[in-house]
Amino acid sequence: MSQCAPLPWQVDNWQRLLNQYQQNHLPHALLLSGHAGTGKRLFAQALAESLLCSQPVDGKACGQCKGCHLLSAGTHPDFIEISTEEKSRVIKVDQIRALKTFCGKTAQLNGYKVIILQPADCLNISSANALLKDLEEPQPNTVFILVSDQPAQIVATIRSRCHQLDFGVPSVGQATQWLAEQGVSNDTLPQLLVMADNAPLLALQLHEEQALEKRKTIYRGLAEVQQGKSHPAGVAQSLQEYEPLDVVQWLQVWVADVIKAAQVADEKQLKNQDLAGFLMKTAEQAQLNRLYLYLDSLQQHRQALLSGHNPNKILLLESLLISWAQCFEYH
Ligand SMILES: [Zn+2]
Repeated sequence: MSQCAPLPWQVDNWQRLLNQYQQNHLPHALLLSGHAGTGKRLFAQALAESLLCSQPVDGKACGQCKGCHLLSAGTHPDFIEISTEEKSRVIKVDQIRALKTFCGKTAQLNGYKVIILQPADCLNISSANALLKDLEEPQPNTVFILVSDQPAQIVATIRSRCHQLDFGVPSVGQATQWLAEQGVSNDTLPQLLVMADNAPLLALQLHEEQALEKRKTIYRGLAEVQQGKSHPAGVAQSLQEYEPLDVVQWLQVWVADVIKAAQVADEKQLKNQDLAGFLMKTAEQAQLNRLYLYLDSLQQHRQALLSGHNPNKILLLESLLISWAQCFEYH
């Protein structure tokens, strides 16, 4: 059975908690916060495994005991994970009410009870209020592990009752080594890390989604429309296999890069650093004021799609490409 372990750049936070645990000072509520894609959820899992293991080795779960077996089978009675339900962007008050029953019972295996709640910034006002009561009246041997990329969006009353642990991005060297160990090739690794703002798990996700291939198709389409080699309708057809939100987000990255290329000479500021030369040329031909307006409209499309708006895909793609072409028209 394979247990989770803290990632190399999380060792300090892990050691800090281990010391508190050994001194019987483990906080009853933790908030793991920081940049997306650095492995906070994995850390929470490793901690839950360790707390629910009856014979941890060097602070890590043994993988052999009853607690470890039950947890890995997803049937541990003293563990619960609360997250957003499918297609929902909030943790609902009913989910927190169900948690009350869990908190009210004593631990079945005579050890800890562990609750992972993520993303904690998805609690709405009523669910946060319901949770507050549980946090205010801590039960013995019960640990709440809240996880959030955006802790500022959690109501202050919840935050103030949690011991906050920050998780930064690792150094480039550490991230590179870890990604290489996961099988990411050297050809794509540096660019994936740049696109992920150095967050290794995000870079790995981009690798697994073959994001660079997708980027190539989308940006090739943009270049063809820009140069008048292809009609927006034709390119829209070729992009319809992708989710509209995905295309909009790739466009946002590209347009922001073209604007940066027009204003700043430093290639390190670009997300598509490997395409810096092409970006510079594009920037020379574009109308900057139109690019700004276009970037605004992309943001509006993104918001609409995120809030569940379901437009006709082909029409949306076509209109995005027509607007892109207009950024290069001088009349
Ligand atoms: Zn164990």
